[in-house]
Amino acid sequence: MEVKLKVFACGISHESHSFSKRYTTMEDFCGAEVGYVSSNPHLVSSRSTEGGILVAAREKSWELIFPFCARATPKGPLTSETFERLSGQLIDELRKAGHVDGVLLALHGAMFSEAYPDCEGEILERVRGVVGQTVPIALALDLHTNFTDRMARLADITTSFRTTPHIDQWETTYRAAGLLDDAMHGRTRPKVYVSRLPMLAGFDMGRTVGSGGPMNELLGKAREIEAMDDDVLDVALNAGYYYGDVFEAGPSVTVTGNGDDDRFQAVADSLMRAGWESRDYVSIEHVSVTDAVEHAQCAPRGSGPLILVDYTDGPAGGADGDGTRLLSALLEANLADTVVGPIFDPQAASLAVSAGVGKQIELEVGGRGDQTYSGAPVRVSGVVRSISDGNYVRKGPYSTGTVGSLGESALIQDNNVSVLVVSKRMQPEDQEQYRIFGIEPKKINILACKGINHFRADFEPIARELVFVDTGGLVAVDFKKFPFKNVRRPIWPLDPDVTI
Ligand SMILES: [Zn+2]
Repeated sequence: MEVKLKVFACGISHESHSFSKRYTTMEDFCGAEVGYVSSNPHLVSSRSTEGGILVAAREKSWELIFPFCARATPKGPLTSETFERLSGQLIDELRKAGHVDGVLLALHGAMFSEAYPDCEGEILERVRGVVGQTVPIALALDLHTNFTDRMARLADITTSFRTTPHIDQWETTYRAAGLLDDAMHGRTRPKVYVSRLPMLAGFDMGRTVGSGGPMNELLGKAREIEAMDDDVLDVALNAGYYYGDVFEAGPSVTVTGNGDDDRFQAVADSLMRAGWESRDYVSIEHVSVTDAVEHAQCAPRGSGPLILVDYTDGPAGGADGDGTRLLSALLEANLADTVVGPIFDPQAASLAVSAGVGKQIELEVGGRGDQTYSGAPVRVSGVVRSISDGNYVRKGPYSTGTVGSLGESALIQDNNVSVLVVSKRMQPEDQEQYRIFGIEPKKINILACKGINHFRADFEPIARELVFVDTGGLVAVDFKKFPFKNVRRPIWPLDPDVTI
């Protein structure tokens, strides 16, 4: 009888914004409790990080130990206590598993804590300490990883998302599982190679929307190289995360090669050089709040919403999500059939829910955190139109079939403007987030939401236009204004004249 290979899988995912004053704690994470994966049977059929691992394990007849898959919306660094709790739990479960044939870790790649600038490297070091040098470790990463040399040294396999919006979470973990399976069976001897240049930004932030742009072009080249050389097991193009003030921040190319060979490093280097050439290409433009609202006033109503994207206050990039500058302007403009939100404000959400549907209320909304970035609270006066526990099942292309929650939430109608206040800091990512309040997004005239990239998967197809707005939030368009201290120098664009 064939002995089943035993694989330990686990996920800890967070993108940590160096310049956010809000530290990330256990309360911010979901999916972190041991037993989370086994107690959520719907995950196996979801198009998620967990789904890719669960399906691969079934197909490959692994004995899979997958205790948890923790993730939190991007925010400030993890407190030391939070990092120790999550990584400690991972290591405890790995020890309990006894001997394993392989390890598959779904990590972000740009997580840091009060104590560690490279949390993923630290996790890998601790995992290696348990399993030893010969058990293969595969990484499935977000393409916004700030991939470090330490990660390259400690992992045998690495692969990253190939889409932004990240609609290939399932495919990425499934691919990592396949590569791990080959290594465990001795069909390959994988090794990770990494290339970096003095760039803090580039690859158009990894955007793959539409058919053009540097990321799509480089992804095409990567697939061609893999097709031509069977020993190039995976090529990953990482756009990096430039709000992470860490030494190795920025774009990188990783190659998982079969064995030791300089040609794998050459592949990584050549694609990285191609990325350097297009480093200043950015596919979106931002306008001021005034220009955005003026544009909305003049825009004829048509099929689908005009979406005003409050990009710089986007939780998906680590911002607070409680910014009020666009809300304030839209309340004043009072354009027909406008929806603003979700806005993160647990206090306002609780007040509105307590008042109840149909009740007239007056309350302050937003601006609870760092007002430098978010602006001051704004007075909203109106009727509570609907309330919800905020739970929804994602039906769009992003993490389809998984459950999300905005927490206790309410929709307040102030003249023509409906304001959605929520108690969990979530990015707009799925139309269901609005439908649970009785709103059909494609029928709205003006939708103002705090999206960056991921919302585009489900919302761009129904929008009549997207307008990206710079509201002065923490996901600053001009990130050069932040006081970087740790990133390697010189580096583009902080040092614009740097050459290679
Ligand atoms: Zn990402």
